Amino acid sequence: MSVEDSFKNVIAHAKEYGFVFPSSELYDGLSAVYDYGQAGAALKNNIRNYWWKSMVQLHENIVGIDAAIFMHPTIWKASGHVDAFNDPLIDNKDSRKRYRADVLIEEQIAKISAKIDKEVEKGRARFGDAFDEVQFRATNPNVLRNREKIEEIERRMKGALDADDLQSLKQLIEDLEVACPISGTRNWTDVRQFNLMFSTEMGAVSGESGTIYLRPETAQGIFVNFSNVQKSGRMKVPFGIAQTGKAFRNEIVARQFIFRMREFEQMEMQFFVRPGTEMQWYSYWKQARMRWHEQLGMGMDAYRYHDHLKLAHYANAACDIEFAFPFGFKELEGIHSRTDFDLSSHERHSGKKLRYFDPETNESYVPYVVETSIGLDRIFLAVLSRAYTEERLPDGSERTVLRIPPFLAPIQVAVLPLVKKDGLPEFALTVLDALRYRYQVQYDDKDSIGKRYRRQDALGTPMCVTIDHQSLEDGQVTVRVRDTMQQERLTLEGLFSFLEREVGLEPVLRALHERQSEGLPA
Ligand code: ATP
Repeated sequence: MSVEDSFKNVIAHAKEYGFVFPSSELYDGLSAVYDYGQAGAALKNNIRNYWWKSMVQLHENIVGIDAAIFMHPTIWKASGHVDAFNDPLIDNKDSRKRYRADVLIEEQIAKISAKIDKEVEKGRARFGDAFDEVQFRATNPNVLRNREKIEEIERRMKGALDADDLQSLKQLIEDLEVACPISGTRNWTDVRQFNLMFSTEMGAVSGESGTIYLRPETAQGIFVNFSNVQKSGRMKVPFGIAQTGKAFRNEIVARQFIFRMREFEQMEMQFFVRPGTEMQWYSYWKQARMRWHEQLGMGMDAYRYHDHLKLAHYANAACDIEFAFPFGFKELEGIHSRTDFDLSSHERHSGKKLRYFDPETNESYVPYVVETSIGLDRIFLAVLSRAYTEERLPDGSERTVLRIPPFLAPIQVAVLPLVKKDGLPEFALTVLDALRYRYQVQYDDKDSIGKRYRRQDALGTPMCVTIDHQSLEDGQVTVRVRDTMQQERLTLEGLFSFLEREVGLEPVLRALHERQSEGLPA
């Protein structure tokens, strides 16, 4: 099956099982806006909860807030968004399709990079066990030539973007002979800048002074509350403020399902540090965030770091954690060392001090900031697409199973009486009641047991608990595990501890906490 087809299957599955619906579908949808259904909302809550607890509950020096979406318009002047939150866009005159100029160029780079990988694979096949990949990459003339090509393109792109030189960006697209995937032509317009913020008006005032923006990131709500939180929470640097919430961007190219949406949710944490220590904290958070992903158990081959070539206006170091989405490795999370850019800028624009008096050094300073920023919808897509599996079983039958990390599953335990009579439903309901305070549970007594297992597999339910006639006699139940389809008989007490170990959030948080001090700056 092609990559596109399998991604289409994931999207269809997401709709069929109540994870994600196109927004306003009744009215033919609204581009790049999606609604989360009953299973999706549960999965999203569980991911958010895992992030929130790992930040706020596991760190004494991180607290969480919930700032408003509407903010004073000057905030977006101070943050640089009014002047610089632009994407360079270009249109193909024949297809009338709009693209991001930098993305078109990056796609060319990815093509050359794929050629290098192919060359390496050829080398591996030719030399067998004696193959030394590092040496091959450093000496093979084809690899070297393509590497040089990539470096030259990156140098030109960075130069053009840094200098805001849109003509050079277009020239690069022309020199690379980029063709529109729809029309196949190279008939391009000039490159133009496009601001991504949505604006609206507040109250009865119209015109320039009444214009406010829907926040394009949650971070600014944290910066402008820096002093409030620091003072009211008596926080000592280094400390962090975490927040989750909606953000809005008028994306030019909104494709790939929930990967790039116009309304989405971010989970951000700003960590305030003493100036001069930011690089140590940057590398700490780079590792710490990867450990958070590792606990999801989705396989580390799905992740890689990508260090930024072009630093945003506020950053002195930045990288992405990229994930192997069905359409390739793409940004999942950003980790940025933002210097004192934001707080200093808010000091200037508000005329109020945003300083911290450090009792250890007896100095007052504007703290530096290291930020971790992940899109909740993107990690949702990462989990869903990685989990989706079509399996052929030993008996020749097929099943579709979502191998969602058990502690994140929308329904963690399904309770199923084998038949709908003889007192089995009553017993099942008592089991359900005993579990519901700790887990999201579902009772199901419709259809054959085999069909019910398949339905739960497709929903990603990690554990099914079945009650049969024997249960009435010995009080034991059968637990059936989604991934292995193994079954085990357990007493109710045995079941509780089994579930806590296998689907509880606590063991995951404990494992994360145990490794929290790795790489911590002295
Ligand atoms: P991209 O380069 O993909 O546009 P970005 O670098 O602009 O992303 P940031 O401003 O760093 O993104 O935002 C932090 C995180 O928010 C991203 O890593 C991503 O997970 C998420 N995010 C950003 N834009 C969107 C969007 N339009 N839809 C869904 N998630 C998004």
